[in-house]
Formats: sequence, structure tokens, C-alpha cells
Amino acid sequence: MEKMTRVSDIFASEVFSEDVMRERLPKEVYKSLLNTIARGGELDASIADVVAGAMKDWAIEHGATHFTHWFQPLTGVTAEKHDAFLSPVGNGKAIMEFSGKELIRGEPDASSFPSGGLRATFEARGYTAWDPASYAFIKDGSLYIPTAFCSFGGEALDTKTPLLRSMDAISAEGLRILRLFGDSETKRVVSNVGAEQEYFLIDSEDFKKRRDLYFCGRTLFGAPAVKGQELDDHYFGILPTRVSAFMKELDLELWKLGIASKTKHNEAAPAQHELAPIFTSTNIAVDQNLLTMEYMRKLAPKFGMECLLAEKPFEGINGSGKHNNWSISTDSGRNLLKPGKHPAENKQFLLILAAVIRAVDEYQDLLRISAATAGNDCRLGGHEAPPAIISIFLGEELETLVNSIVDGSAYSDAERKYMSLGIPSLPTIRKDTTDRNRTSPFAFTGNKFEFRMVGSSQNIALANIVINTAVAESLSIFADALEETLDFDGTLDALIADTLRRHGRILFSGNSYSQEWEAEAARRGLSNFKTAPEAYAHFTDEKNIALFGKFGVMSETEMRSRREIFFESYRKIKNIEARVMLEMTVRDIIPAVSKYIGSLTDSINSRLTFSKTANISAERDIIEKLSNLLSATYEAYNALELSEKVAISKTDCEEAAFYYKSSVIPRMDALRKCVDAMEVLTAREYWPIPTYGDITFRV
Ligand code: ADP
Ligand code: MG
Repeated sequence: MEKMTRVSDIFASEVFSEDVMRERLPKEVYKSLLNTIARGGELDASIADVVAGAMKDWAIEHGATHFTHWFQPLTGVTAEKHDAFLSPVGNGKAIMEFSGKELIRGEPDASSFPSGGLRATFEARGYTAWDPASYAFIKDGSLYIPTAFCSFGGEALDTKTPLLRSMDAISAEGLRILRLFGDSETKRVVSNVGAEQEYFLIDSEDFKKRRDLYFCGRTLFGAPAVKGQELDDHYFGILPTRVSAFMKELDLELWKLGIASKTKHNEAAPAQHELAPIFTSTNIAVDQNLLTMEYMRKLAPKFGMECLLAEKPFEGINGSGKHNNWSISTDSGRNLLKPGKHPAENKQFLLILAAVIRAVDEYQDLLRISAATAGNDCRLGGHEAPPAIISIFLGEELETLVNSIVDGSAYSDAERKYMSLGIPSLPTIRKDTTDRNRTSPFAFTGNKFEFRMVGSSQNIALANIVINTAVAESLSIFADALEETLDFDGTLDALIADTLRRHGRILFSGNSYSQEWEAEAARRGLSNFKTAPEAYAHFTDEKNIALFGKFGVMSETEMRSRREIFFESYRKIKNIEARVMLEMTVRDIIPAVSKYIGSLTDSINSRLTFSKTANISAERDIIEKLSNLLSATYEAYNALELSEKVAISKTDCEEAAFYYKSSVIPRMDALRKCVDAMEVLTAREYWPIPTYGDITFRV
């Protein structure tokens, strides 16, 4: 249908990128804007009109008729409100207009977005403010302007604002460190993220037939398929035709938006896949990840499929997460987490490494919270995902180095190892200095850390707010000490060694999925919040309020409102799930099973009519088992309905969330057990919903 597409021709073609800015803006304006973007400085208000004009012309040339401020309220998804560029000029005529004021500020009605109590004390009004550091782009005929979203009182009502603040914090503290090591050039330290995204693709028909998938994005019932992922034949396997077609189109659409989607492959579970983009600065990476998820959902139906982003769509097979690859670099792109050839002599690297180790140890609870959702509770601690315990994996080389620093013993650089495959025509490959540990929630992978706990459907902003701010705090403490000392080298060595000694408990290179680790972690005093509500409760612990307050990332008020929203969304999700289960049970499952029992009874009757001595044990046994299960199901149904009523009656969100965790969820599990047991005994043609086998092996 189309001629060959050159990636370089379409890449970022729908983005008001730096290249477009250079082309279209007066030199001074371009420089001023670039300065704001690169250094995170304040925007020169006088240039807004000029930028808006250029943006509008460019957008109209690309077919846009509308513009929208695009923001990330605390719902976890993005929000937009479109206005036409149109402006009436009398005589029934209109011109296309877009002012600097419209670019810089928007005023959507904030009253329907979660505010966690901020609305009670402040006005319902909300403002969006242009974030020049994230590029505007065109989608579906509208110019999208990435913005921050705040209340009338100036409190952040979104995930973007604190993220930008945390990037400023790590930049400021990172610069202090760089200066101490003699770098006078770097103007900004940037935190970078590459977010690998896992997802499932299933057939649209199956999706429509299951109300749990339809309403909750995950199955609430379902006996395991006869074949699961035990053969590992899906991982990196050949892509089914329509999946491959989907991925091609997805890549194309993402590339247009300047999202450097790079790697795609099948994941471990049947019907599971992964996409990895090339990393970029954190604020952009967050935007891009949200757009990636949006396009996955939007494009799948074109290929007769639905994209599931839920953390655990199917019990018993792997769930989906996000690998948040994080590093910091200078504005010229020098990676500060690169150990170099001689890490033992690279004191700046060791100091930054120590900063991360300290940050992760001190703020285990915050990191855990950043990955805590109702959906992720179903995944964490399973056989495929990190447990609820935070720990760091460094890899053999760094671990040996850290140990030698801690106990003051000698260290020599690890030998570079090569491996030959024994076939002359194949190249000799240099071995990585670290092997992979796929079970670690926070793993050093050569020149970056990979936080693997975040759920697949989550906005990655909070995880990065926590990492940036916590590391900024470590750097700030180090800078305080180093700026004061008269013995720089001595203080530096002592700082590194002390920090590693004090926070060494967070390092773990064994199997994080094992039972032994849980016991060992408890001995080490590491926190282990098994469920989201247990984690949320610690969000506003004094030390956490102090951390975010110190760097102006979130005020106590903002934190309290967020804490409220955590509990609120948790309870809402669980409430919907419980109700869908109840509905499916009485309206789909019970009628189906009872109909099947009826048919078995008919069979018995007709067979006995035919011959009084017919052996009816098969029908009789199945009827007996199903009848017992049917009444157990109904009992479980009643129990769930009762506790769901209690949960709904609770006015306090936190109390409700804990009630769901300890009372409703166990009853949901009990009901599911009964239903799944009936599924395996009920004739295929009677079972009212597609089974796991149908769904995961049909695409
Ligand atoms: P893997 O996790 O299999 O090792 P890659 O090395 O390709 O895969 O990296 C996975 C993700 O990490 C990609 O999104 C990649 O862009 C990102 N990444 C690579 N280097 C960095 C870095 N310095 N900072 C942040 N992310 C990075
Ligand atoms: Mg990875």
C-alpha cells in the first residue's frame, strides 16, 4: 500500500522539536527557549507570543485544527481538553489564532480530578502551565502541549510538577558534586529513564465476552490452562502475524511522535510482549511511556486484538511490569554512573554509587509505595516478579569492589573476560562484567540502575520522583561534607566507605524470589510491605515529609492529599472488582453450571428409561461434585456480598482500603476458588466465558 518508509524521514515528524524550533523561531527567541529547556530556568514571558505563533503555523501545516493542554492528573492517566484555534473577527468570519497566554496557561475545571482533600480547602479551579522541556506534538488533529497541573492555591494536582521539581533537585545537588571534582563546564545534571513496557495482546472476541476483562482489565476467574508457560517456548519466540503487524504500526506511530521505540519481542508468558524505547530525560520518558501505553491500547483493536496493561491479567502465568532504567548524566550526555575501566580509582563514580545505595536503603518505603497499586499487589511476590522487599544487586565486579572498600582490603580490577565460541568465523565476544540477576528489584546493569518493581499500567513518575529526590539528598549530604573539609581526599574516602558500611544491608545478589531471602531480609531489618495499603500508610512518615520538603518537591499538604488518593483509588478498584465478580457469579456462572447439571440429569433420566441397569456413575459423580461446588459458590457469593456492603459503607478511605485488603480480598479469593473448580468440571459448551487456554493461545 505504501512505499518504503525511512525511519529517519518520519521520526519526530509530528513533534515541535528543537530542530523545528531552530527553523521557525527568531534566533534570540530560539536561544532563550533552549536555555529554559536545557538549564531548567525560568521562561521569558515576552517570547511566549512568538513561540505560540510559530507553533500554531507549524501545527496547522500538519493538519491540526485544535490545541490542548495535556496533563497528568492523579488518576494515573492523562487528561486533555481541546480548543479550536478559531477566533471570530466579526462579519461571521474567523481567523486561526493562538496566543502566548493560551500556550502558557490553561484553566480546566479541576473539580472532577482527584485532589485528596485539597479541594475542600482550596478552590475547585485548576491551572495548567506549559512545560517547555517536554516537546509539543500533534495527535489526531490537535496540537498537544505538555503541561503541569496545579490547584488555585498552587498545590500540584499532577505527577508532572513534582517530577520536574525532583529533576531540579538532583541537578542542583549533582552540580555541587561535579564542581568539587573540578567540572566547571556542566550546567545541568539530567536524570534519564528508559522504560521497558510489558503487555498482553488477546483476541478482541475473548475480551468482549468477559466482563472482568472488559471492566477491570484482568481476569477475576479462570482455571489454569492445560498448557502454561512451562515450556518457555514463547519467550523471544516468533511473532504471530497480526502481532507483528500491530508492532510495526505501533513503532511507526511512536516514531512520528519522536518516541524511539527500539526493541520488541515476546515475553515469557503466552500472549505477552515487550517494547523498549531508547532512554531520554525523565520528564520526556514519562510522557512517552504514557503515549506508548495509549497507542498500544488504541491500535490493538485495528488488528482484532485488545492490549492488556494490567499487572496480572491471568493468575498462574507471568504478570507485566515496567523496567524503569535510570541514570544521571551531564547536559552533554556524560553518564555519571559509568564505572569506567578502573572503577576503584573512579572516586566520583563510587561516590555517586554510594549516594544511590544510601538513597535506596533510606527510602525503601517510598520506593515500595511508588510501585504499590491494587493491580501490582497481584503481581509482586509472585514467582516472576520482585518481592515486596527492596534490595540492590550490584553484580560481581562492583560487589567485590564494595566489599574491599568496606573491609579495607586490597582490590584489583577484574580481568576483562572474553569468550570464544570455538568457531573461527564467529567473533570473540567480550563478556559483560556483570551477569544478570533478573530477580532483583533494583539492579545495577553496567551504567544504569533498573528498578523493576513498577507495575505495567502505572505512570512511572512517582518512582522517578522518589529516586531523584532521595539521591539528591545523598548528594547534598556528601556535598556539605566535602565543601567544608580541608582534607578532600581523606573525607571522600571516608564518606564512601562509611556510606557503604552503613547501608550495605540493602545489597543482595542472591535469588530475591526465594523464601530464604524473606527471612534474611527480616534479619537485616529491611522493610517488607506485602500489600499496597500497608505501604501507603508510610508515605507521610516524618522522614519522608522532611525529604520532599527539603528539596521543595512536595509539600506536606501535597503529600497528605496524595496519600489520600492512594487509598481512594485502591478502594475504588477493589470495589469494582468485587462487584464484577458478584455479577458474573450470579448472572453467568451459576446459571451455566445449573444448566449443565440439568442436562446431566436429563441424560440420566433418558438412559434409565432406556435401561434400568444403565451405569450412570459418571453423570451422578459430576452432578454431585458440581452441586456441592454450586452451593459452596453461593455461600462464598453471599459472604463476599456482605463484606462488600460493609466496605462501601466506610467513609474513611484508608479504613476502607484496609478492610478490602483484610476482609474483601480473601472472600474474593474464596469465591474464585469455587468457580475455578466448577470450570474444570463443566462441559466446554456450557462454560459461559472464554477460558485461559482459549485466551492465551488464540492470538
Ligand atoms: P536490557 O534491560 O535487556 O539490558 P538494554 O540495555 O537495551 O536492555 O536497556 C533497556 C532500557 O534501558 C532501554 O530502554 C534503554 O534505552 C535503557 N537505557 C540504556 N542506557 C541507559 C541509561 N544510561 N540511562 C537510562 N536508561 C538507559
Ligand atoms: Mg531490562
